[in-house]
Amino acid sequence: MDDRRRGVPGTDRVLADPRVAAAVERLGHELVVRTVREVAQRARDGLIEPADVVAETVAALPGSASGLRPVVNATGVLLHTNLGRAPLSRAAREALQVAAGTTDVELDLDSGDRGARGASAMGALLEAVPSAEAAHVVNNGAAALALAATALAAGREIVLARGEMVEIGDGFRIPDLLTSTGARLREVGTTNRVRLDDYRHALSAETGFVLKIHPSNFVISGFTAEVPVGELRDLGVAVVADIGSGLLRPDPVLPGEPDAASALADGADLVIASGDKLLGGPQCGLLLGRAEIVHRLRRHPLARALRVDKLTLAALEATVRGPRPPVTSALHRTGLPERAAALADSLAAAGIPAEAVGTEATVGGGGAPGVVLPSAAVALPGRFAKQLRLGDPPVMARLGRNRCLLDLFAIEPDDDEPVRRAVLAAH
Ligand SMILES: *Cc1c(COP(=O)(O)O)cnc(C)c1O
Repeated sequence: MDDRRRGVPGTDRVLADPRVAAAVERLGHELVVRTVREVAQRARDGLIEPADVVAETVAALPGSASGLRPVVNATGVLLHTNLGRAPLSRAAREALQVAAGTTDVELDLDSGDRGARGASAMGALLEAVPSAEAAHVVNNGAAALALAATALAAGREIVLARGEMVEIGDGFRIPDLLTSTGARLREVGTTNRVRLDDYRHALSAETGFVLKIHPSNFVISGFTAEVPVGELRDLGVAVVADIGSGLLRPDPVLPGEPDAASALADGADLVIASGDKLLGGPQCGLLLGRAEIVHRLRRHPLARALRVDKLTLAALEATVRGPRPPVTSALHRTGLPERAAALADSLAAAGIPAEAVGTEATVGGGGAPGVVLPSAAVALPGRFAKQLRLGDPPVMARLGRNRCLLDLFAIEPDDDEPVRRAVLAAH
């Protein structure tokens, strides 16, 4: 026992190893020292050989200084909130790298004077949605709603349909957010039906705006009626449309999903959407619409508390201007059954009971409720799910009827090979 303790190298000696010293540069002193001490303790406890402390330390060091790890999304839910919603495009990742340093986010290099913050990201949004006179970006969709409610209706009324009083997820209720700003809600209609006259009767000098919320995570069917933005515009008050998912233009793959350009063309004065849902960008909240309204929001004191950083602006602009982001590619991809078959065959050849099956993927994350997207998966025995989750990289599968389904819908074709290796390692 004492011999073993004496044989365990001291922290300084482990830190002197070139590989460990390099890790200090990359990860910082504290994190590396903590790892060294943990490994040394394992040696003292007799769990590893003292001679292996350096090698074990190198193996135990984390890949990055952040605890966040890349995860393969094999759930068949394209926008998985617990997995950070939209994965960014390569263009957006590169833009993040550039913006990470000192950057001209609020500087006009020509004149040397202060410039409009995020001007080129706003320019990208306005080019993508020409019917918007102005654009503003805040922290997320909820922040966009809070800013609109505060600036346009605090102490006054927001008129909205009872059937659109939505809970988004994790207990987040839009009505509660709206009233927290000091605005009052004026519900109109019933759970299943609302008419233009219901809205008209609710209007008064107290009205701040009429809010149309896209019920983005449920559908009601049967005896229903709603009033489209195109009719609400005739009420003569500001109409704000929360479209949720952030499609800038219609996408034929999702015919029922609202988009910013159409909502504005139909007469919305302001459109609110998230950046990290179907737009496929970073977390943010988009506000697009009439110049006078957007400027009021931008000048409101609360805007400063909700403003986005240079990283978000950079990733958003690259998403809007750049090549199709992964979310859009996934929605338009074909050949999933062939990929699933090839993967299953290759795994079966290695002795793993794998089978290609047809599945139904969903958009998730508050988008396209009820829309079923034909997809394909590799079915494995249920026990694989946990092993894959604990693997490197972790693969998050879907469990169905005691089987572990690796749904390929949200997986880039380039990632089939890492998934195959992960399954082999989990075997
Ligand atoms: C997702 C969603 C929100 C909230 O947006 P976050 O970006 O998650 O804050 C608001 N309204 C609707 C209709 C949504 O779908």
